[in-house]
Amino acid sequence: MSDKPFSGATALVTGGSRGIGRACCIRLARAGANVVINYRSRAEDAEQCAQLVKEAGGKPHLIAADVSDEQSVADMIAETEATFGPVELLVNNAGIFEYVTHAETTPDHWRRTLDVNLTGLYLVTWAVKESMIRRNYGRIVNIASIAGLRPRPHAIAYAVSKAGVISFTQSTGEALAKHNVRMNAVAPGLIETEILADVDPIRLDEIVAATPLPRMGTPAEIAEAVYYLLSDASSFMIGQTIVADGGRVMLP
Ligand code: NAP
Repeated sequence: MSDKPFSGATALVTGGSRGIGRACCIRLARAGANVVINYRSRAEDAEQCAQLVKEAGGKPHLIAADVSDEQSVADMIAETEATFGPVELLVNNAGIFEYVTHAETTPDHWRRTLDVNLTGLYLVTWAVKESMIRRNYGRIVNIASIAGLRPRPHAIAYAVSKAGVISFTQSTGEALAKHNVRMNAVAPGLIETEILADVDPIRLDEIVAATPLPRMGTPAEIAEAVYYLLSDASSFMIGQTIVADGGRVMLP
C-alpha cells in the first residue's frame, strides 16, 4: 500500500491549529493530503501548524472561522473549495471545555458549549455533505470524549455536547452510508493539551491515578485513531465511536 494514500486529497481539520487537531493535520500531511487548518483566533498557533504540515510533506492552508457561525462556516467551505477543491476528509475537532460546577452553569455557558461542540459539528458537516454525496465519496471523523459516556459533574454542558456528538455520529453515519460517506468518531480520555488548563491539577492527578494506563494520552495517539477511521483500513465501519482513554471508561 502507498505510504501516501491521501495524496492530493482535500482535508479540513476544524480547530486544527493546536492540540489534537494539530496532530491530525500532521498525520494527514504525512499521508499526502492538502490540509486546511481551521482555527478561531490564535493565528500564531495556526502558522506554526502550517510549518509542521509542510515539513510532514503536505500543503497547508489556514482559515480563521468560528464553527458555530453559519456564515463563517459557509465562507470557510467556499475558500477551501477555491483553494484545494471539495472537502473529501473532514475532522470535526474544534471544541471548548469550561470546568464549571452545576451552580456555575449559566445559560450563556450552556449555549456557548453546545453551539461550538455540537451545532458547530452539524454546521460544518452539512456544509460539505451535499458535495460528498454528489461525488459519492467522503470520510468524516468527529471528536467526542469519554465525558459523553460517563458522568462529568464539573462540566455538564460539555458532557451533554459530547454525548450529542456520539449520537450525531450514529444517526448521520447511517444517513450518509449509502453515499459512500463514512462517518465515525473518536472519544479521547485525558489528553495533554491546553484545553485542560482550567482543570484543578489535583483532579487531573486523581483521574490519571484511576486510569489503567496511568498517564495522559498524547495528541498523536488520538490522531492515529482518527487516521484509522479516515483510512480504508476501517472500510466496514459506520457510526462507531472508538474510545482511546488508557482504559478509564471501563472503570467506575
Ligand atoms: P485545544 O488544545 O484547546 O484546541 C482547541 C482548538 O479548537 C484550537 O485550534 C481552537 O482555535 C479551536 N476552536 C475553539 N473554538 C473554536 C470555534 N468556535 N471555531 C473554530 N475553532 C475553534 O483543545 P484539544 O484538547 O486539542 O481538543 C480538541 C477536541 O478534542 C475538542 O473537541 C475536545 O473537546 C476534544 N477532547 C479533548 C480532550 C483532552 O483531554 N484534551 C479529551 C476529550 C476530547 P483557537 O486556538 O484559535 O482558539
